[in-house]
Amino acid sequence: MRKWVLVGSVLALALVLVALVIPWRGAPSAPRPAPSRPPSAAAPPPVVGAASIGDPYFPQAGDGGYDVTGYDIQVRYDPPTDRLEGHTTITAQATESLSRFDLDLRLPASAVTVDDQPAAIHQDAGKLEITPAAPVQAGTPMTVRVDYAGVPSGVPEEPGMPSPWVRTPEGAVAVGEPEIAAWWYPCNDHPSDKATFMITATVPASLQVISNGALLGGPEPAGPGLARWRWQESEPMATYLAFIAIGNYDIVRRDTRFGLYLAAYDRGLDPQVAQAARASVEQTPQVLEFLSGIFGPYPFRQLGGVVPDAPSLGFSLEDQTRPVYSPAFFVSGQDVSVVVHELAHQWFGDSVSVRHWNDIWLNEGFATYAQWLYTERTGGLSAAQTAAAAYARHPADDTFWRIPPGAPGGGAELLNNAVYQRGAMALQALREAVGDQDFFASLRAWATERAGRNGSVPDFLALLKHVSGKNIDDVAQTWLFTPARPPAPPG
Ligand SMILES: [Zn+2]
Repeated sequence: MRKWVLVGSVLALALVLVALVIPWRGAPSAPRPAPSRPPSAAAPPPVVGAASIGDPYFPQAGDGGYDVTGYDIQVRYDPPTDRLEGHTTITAQATESLSRFDLDLRLPASAVTVDDQPAAIHQDAGKLEITPAAPVQAGTPMTVRVDYAGVPSGVPEEPGMPSPWVRTPEGAVAVGEPEIAAWWYPCNDHPSDKATFMITATVPASLQVISNGALLGGPEPAGPGLARWRWQESEPMATYLAFIAIGNYDIVRRDTRFGLYLAAYDRGLDPQVAQAARASVEQTPQVLEFLSGIFGPYPFRQLGGVVPDAPSLGFSLEDQTRPVYSPAFFVSGQDVSVVVHELAHQWFGDSVSVRHWNDIWLNEGFATYAQWLYTERTGGLSAAQTAAAAYARHPADDTFWRIPPGAPGGGAELLNNAVYQRGAMALQALREAVGDQDFFASLRAWATERAGRNGSVPDFLALLKHVSGKNIDDVAQTWLFTPARPPAPPG
């Protein structure tokens, strides 16, 4: 994610922008009573799935009792009313014997089946509790189908929290971090449970639907005045990175050596903004050349971008294979830097995802550092100079230094500017501690060895130590974990 910050913006504006991307809504689920268990049995008795996947910052997220392998999301959307009707089928593997389990879903569910048998449901505070007709045995696959419908923009918000479901003049765009998925499909909403996706949307025939991965079909006739669009992401993807953009788009396609490039520009954009957006996003293949030269092979087979007519969208987001860019980034002209940032996330965040949200430095510190490297290697300031300038901008008493990027906190701190800027300074400090050769070898090893999987901050530091053979504990402690200004800039 890259937040939009005006040059010379006052703190108040920064706070508003931070508020736009502040995340997790809803109170944690209340503790549930322990399940009744048979007095004795040879096999472990079925249990209620942990109503959490165990994230330290967002304990209400996900369910630790199963592992999703695939989502087949089918939605029908009516822009004038913002009504979304969905039928989503989830294939998963129970990791323990389950008498009950949860999905995250903000829209009302009407019916659920588990392995084609009707299940009992209860829905509260964004959790859909499902009690199958018979317990699902540990290690066995299960198929869960959920029927649901509602108005995503009508999902109750906490005061001051805008919806991550953004309506546009012609349609809508679902884009958010760390949370958006439950606004349009039921899921195990945590980046540690990645899965493949089929996304099918039926909309008025005058509109287009853009999503992740490959376009399998569309527009296809789907009844009077309606068209269906089918997309597939066959690489594992975190739930928050699945997106859908519905609107009146110009679609640009061309073959590249990285795969099929497909970008979409809302026809409602101001012409100058549209021109600047195109001049920036159309550089995606060249930016991927640059980034793959540093980080190793591009991890996906599709590429592109989407620019919706959503001026209020306060950030751009690295949706897998096809980032969604806020038009606000292009109001003053071309901005390749935001393209570099979102595309760097394809390696750091999308292909290799955080294990828990407290590992967010692995996303934002790295994507910001990629911007610094782009500047360094295209004739601008070196990354060391950029780091020194960023250090000088924040005096010791600046609250900026109170947020350590390696453990920022799970509220407004999660996507605080310090995670980005100090996070990138931390990488510069680590680069200088181990030397260029081992530093860049470590970045490539991280991206290739963990492609399609997850990692944590300690995992990355262990790799850097292993590759370099150097003790980096003090540098890491100073730059990542200490809530104070380090005594000197990196270098
Ligand atoms: Zn980012």
